[in-house]
Amino acid sequence: MAQHDLLIVGAGPVGLSLALALKDSGLAIALADTRPRDAVAADPRALALAHGSRLTLERLGVWNDLPATPIRHIHVSQQGGFGRTRLEADDYGVPALGYVVQAGALAAALRDAVECAGITVMDQTEVTSLNSNSDSVTASLAGTGATIHGTAAGARLVACAEGGLLAGTPDIVERDYGQHALIANVGIAGKHRETAFERFTSEGPIALLPHGDEYALVHVASPQRATELLALPDAAYREHLQRRFGSRVQLARVTGRLRYPLVLRYRRDPVGPRTVWLGNAAQTLHPVAGQGFNLALRDVWALARTLLDYRGDPGLAGTLAAWRDARRLDRFGAINFTDSLVRIFSNDFVPLHHARGAALFALDMLPPLRHFIARRMMFGARAWP
Ligand SMILES: Cc1cc2nc3c(=O)[nH]c(=O)nc-3n(C[C@H](O)[C@H](O)[C@H](O)COP(=O)(O)OP(=O)(O)OC[C@H]3O[C@@H](n4cnc5c(N)ncnc54)[C@H](O)[C@@H]3O)c2cc1C
Repeated sequence: MAQHDLLIVGAGPVGLSLALALKDSGLAIALADTRPRDAVAADPRALALAHGSRLTLERLGVWNDLPATPIRHIHVSQQGGFGRTRLEADDYGVPALGYVVQAGALAAALRDAVECAGITVMDQTEVTSLNSNSDSVTASLAGTGATIHGTAAGARLVACAEGGLLAGTPDIVERDYGQHALIANVGIAGKHRETAFERFTSEGPIALLPHGDEYALVHVASPQRATELLALPDAAYREHLQRRFGSRVQLARVTGRLRYPLVLRYRRDPVGPRTVWLGNAAQTLHPVAGQGFNLALRDVWALARTLLDYRGDPGLAGTLAAWRDARRLDRFGAINFTDSLVRIFSNDFVPLHHARGAALFALDMLPPLRHFIARRMMFGARAWP
């Protein structure tokens, strides 16, 4: 049975980022992924990455060749109500508030860099169970990869970045939002001028993120409404969106609609015996504030720093607890911030509608509050003074 210092379950963007962050650590690292090598590169979602994520991806050496569209202005409003706010990159002395990249392109760049670093990735290798004892964890492997790599692997630390939480896993908080996200590419008449729109409507929030020459759309609606919207021909759907957005932006065409069910699901404790959980496997968030991958990358970077600081056996309980404790504020802050946004802005209760307008107005009028929120989205808990 092969022995590793660190076995990473899942070679999605989060698992690959961890491997890369530890490439010079001297640890013997391997990744296992159920899917074939190129599957991650097919992810069509557009990810809004915070300025802080850009800095981390630069350190990982994958930023420079990654096609990324800067967001310099963010316009937040609600349909049918007063109140709006704008966030401007210039106010924070950063080149952009964030960047939009294609999730598949990011994963492909990470994968190439992991291979360049000589780290083993076992493709088509599913980890079917983990059994830990005081010294190590044994992972059972299945799939065509197991015929090459063996049906079991040992590791001193296992990082679970497999993207989902198994139903019935203990210590999980779960809430089905009763919402689905439609994503699509939206062509526009004219230029987007690096402006992102977040618009809260009675159907749910709609985000337009500048991506290349177009916009990437994330349109949240009830599952039934999502089914109806998916059934509309492209042109009719474009008209529907245009009505929701008003005259701020002229939409020319919509292509490539896909849907994702939305839940909040997280582990109260992302640490177990010689095991950590990262990314969607630790917390799956609503995309309303674009926090999921950004938070995961901060967790990954902090874990890598902790393992480098403590050296020695990477699976020691004290080392993993130090990481968990250091990440608690940012982690629960991002989970609660995202969940609060969904609750406040997905409710069409009339007094709340007015309160939302007042909140957006207040944000516009109160620079310190606006700056706090902007910094939180860019840097996570480091936004706290
Ligand atoms: C519509 C939408 C929009 C989003 N927008 C944003 C955004 O703007 N900004 C942002 O920061 N985040 C956003 N997110 C969240 C972001 O997509 C996730 O945080 C990110 O994709 C999580 O990556 P991951 O590596 O944890 O999981 P995944 O990408 O799911 O990767 C998990 C990998 O593990 C493998 N695997 C699964 N089970 C096993 C097993 N048993 N053994 C071995 N391998 C296994 C899978 O094959 C897969 O390759 C959005 C999410 C959605 C749904």
